[in-house]
Amino acid sequence: MSDLIDRYAVFGNPIKHSKSPQIHTLFAEQTNQSLTYSAVHAEVGQFEQAVKNFIKDNGKGLNITVPFKEDAWKLATRHSDRSKRAGAVNTLKLEQDGSLYGDTTDGVGLVRDLMHNHHIEISNKTILIIGAGGAVRGIIEALLAQHPASILISNRTKQKAVQLAKDFSDLGTIDGCGLDDISNNSFDLIINGTSASLQGELPALPGSIFADHSCSYDMMYAAQATVFMQWSLDNGAEQVFDGLGMLVEQAAESFYIWRGVRPETSPVIKHLRETL
Ligand code: NDP
Repeated sequence: MSDLIDRYAVFGNPIKHSKSPQIHTLFAEQTNQSLTYSAVHAEVGQFEQAVKNFIKDNGKGLNITVPFKEDAWKLATRHSDRSKRAGAVNTLKLEQDGSLYGDTTDGVGLVRDLMHNHHIEISNKTILIIGAGGAVRGIIEALLAQHPASILISNRTKQKAVQLAKDFSDLGTIDGCGLDDISNNSFDLIINGTSASLQGELPALPGSIFADHSCSYDMMYAAQATVFMQWSLDNGAEQVFDGLGMLVEQAAESFYIWRGVRPETSPVIKHLRETL
């Protein structure tokens, strides 16, 4: 059995458009790790059985995406502290004793992309996060760990933003509000964590959130600037970025959890950007 190749995969539904197989195959080539990585379309209600089958077939680790993050949380027998805070698991690792370790890598991925790839300072900066869904919950702890001056979460459904801020209020200065509640305040860093860009929509916010030096980050990515990136530029943001770097950085953290080797992300980001 030991000559079998280690298998990894991303489980989701739908999963056809996932970039993870491409990213992890490039990581494996670059670091001379012998493994395969595929995209697995699992049926809703059959996640646990699909994972068991995968493990039987020499599966060593998984990424998990919509709609299975909660199932993955339940399946993990041990959770990292950061995944407990985020209430999410996007990475499962099969341990030597057969148990499953659950972790989340989105927050680290975003912070690495901002700080290492784009040289954006977070410490002492004012941050506005738009949205209060699963993706935003996953990034707050990692952002607060960099000691920003403050974080304001603003969401269409105000109550979700208020609750989310409360859940992290022991870690730093963080508040929640509705989209209507922001008036004449500008921020150093604005992060769009809504899914509005997927429909080509903009969250209903005033352009006054941008100052001359503001940096705007859309967690979504696309071949062209997203509507949010374009709107940010039109309203005075100095720098705008999309979430492609975050995607590759969170993948690198998963790869590190599984293999103990940290791949170089910049050539992979460049390759993906050229093929978007
Ligand atoms: P959820 O469905 O959990 O949350 C969606 C959020 O977007 C909610 O806060 C919702 O507000 C808000 N929203 C949706 N449409 C609009 C709109 N038209 N105007 C204002 N607000 C809107 O999604 P996720 O948190 O899982 O994902 C959010 C985004 O993050 C997606 O675009 C996803 O692709 C991206 N992402 C990127 C990653 C990366 O690596 N780059 C990693 C993970 C996610 P309300 O609560 O009022 O419904």
